[in-house]
Amino acid sequence: MSQPVGAPAAQSHPLPSYLQADHLGPWGNYLQQVDRVTPYLGSLARWVETLKRPKRILIVDVPIELDNGTIAHYEGYRVQHNLSRGPGKGGVRFHQDVTLSEVMALSAWMSVKNAAVNVPYGGAKGGIRVDPKKLSMGELERLTRRYTSEIGLLIGPSKDIPAPDVNTNGQIMAWMMDTYSMNTGATATGVVTGKPVDLGGSLGRVEATGRGVYTVGVEAAKLTGLALEGARIAVQGFGNVGGIAAKLFAEAGAKVVAVQDHTGTIFNSKGLDVPALLAHVKTRGGVGGFAGADVMKAEEFWGVDCEILIPAALEGQITKDNAGQIKAKLVIEGANGPTTTEADDILHDKGVLVLPDVIANAGGVTVSYFEWVQDFSSFFWSEDEINARLVRIMQEAFAGIWQVAQEHKVSLRTATFIVACQRILHAREMRGLYP
Ligand code: NAD
Repeated sequence: MSQPVGAPAAQSHPLPSYLQADHLGPWGNYLQQVDRVTPYLGSLARWVETLKRPKRILIVDVPIELDNGTIAHYEGYRVQHNLSRGPGKGGVRFHQDVTLSEVMALSAWMSVKNAAVNVPYGGAKGGIRVDPKKLSMGELERLTRRYTSEIGLLIGPSKDIPAPDVNTNGQIMAWMMDTYSMNTGATATGVVTGKPVDLGGSLGRVEATGRGVYTVGVEAAKLTGLALEGARIAVQGFGNVGGIAAKLFAEAGAKVVAVQDHTGTIFNSKGLDVPALLAHVKTRGGVGGFAGADVMKAEEFWGVDCEILIPAALEGQITKDNAGQIKAKLVIEGANGPTTTEADDILHDKGVLVLPDVIANAGGVTVSYFEWVQDFSSFFWSEDEINARLVRIMQEAFAGIWQVAQEHKVSLRTATFIVACQRILHAREMRGLYP
């Protein structure tokens, strides 16, 4: 039963050690964001502890036989942060620096993001601590299949639906879908999204996150009077999110002047040839060695003269050490968690407008939702329909968040958290505690 307004706050108990903020890093950053939103939650604040504890954490050992005959063990995770609004939804990351703290934070940001764009999902995330670039295709397939079997306890089309994230793609989703289907005895296309189109994937899914980044960028530019034509853009990360966002901004007349990825930092004040750079990255694996640009020192990237900065690589990139150098008027967070809380404050004080990850990169999960709906109904939409629905959802969500930010005089991050956490905690309250 719901409690009346003004009911006493829930009694707090010490947090398990792995949830404490002194395990800093992404989870600590997320906890600070929750603390900032709590004063705006009204009577729902009594449920806020729910947001500070993932519902389920699964840590799995993933053993595989390498091509040379040795057995290697990798650590894998699946975290379901909150399922109040629906099944878990969130990507799977393969990266050598994946940690439990990171996966927990990413799962929590998925809860917030899914609620911010009002898709009927809770938040989840998974990952394996591995450098997949060191594995052969066969090893990668064995790793993916064993991981999928190990997390099979949690995932399913109406339970928890993984998707691609850093270093995972349509092929890996196809192996995940096949493994789950083999284990359950029926083809279950709806168990993952981001699949190839021939396997129940959706048109427009590959471009969706970048398109969402672009869409909110256009809206923010309109609201702040920033002309996109000729605007200079710097992008960190030139993969699925950064590459597509750069392409769309360039097509709209902006100049992508600097790009940084794990292979180098490149610069061209006249604007990089984005289609040529995308083709280069496809064959060479990164921007390093691109002929149409000068090489720049990595640490100079953040101080590049530009109007728009798009971090689209990993979390914790904009910190108190480099935020002061940023010259952009608009930062659009394609990546999850790229800005630390201290850096967020520095940018705010400098008058830089930050479009936070929890709305800016929500285009991917929005089209994942469309993919899931199409798989359930076995009826597929055209790419134009997908893109039109995506743009409408992103525009409406962004407009609502903008209004909340104006009303409460808070940052767009806090405004997004206000909208999303109210939705999550209201669902929590309406459902009540079981038993
Ligand atoms: P990706 O694997 O396609 O690309 C990652 C990019 O980051 C690559 O260009 C890589 O070179 C670069 N990178 C990695 N380490 C780096 C470093 N140390 N310095 C600079 N660049 C580095 O991944 P993606 O799918 O584009 O994801 C990028 C970010 O966007 C992640 O934070 C991810 O969680 C987030 N995101 C992705 C999606 C999606 O649909 N793919 C959706 C929402 C959010």
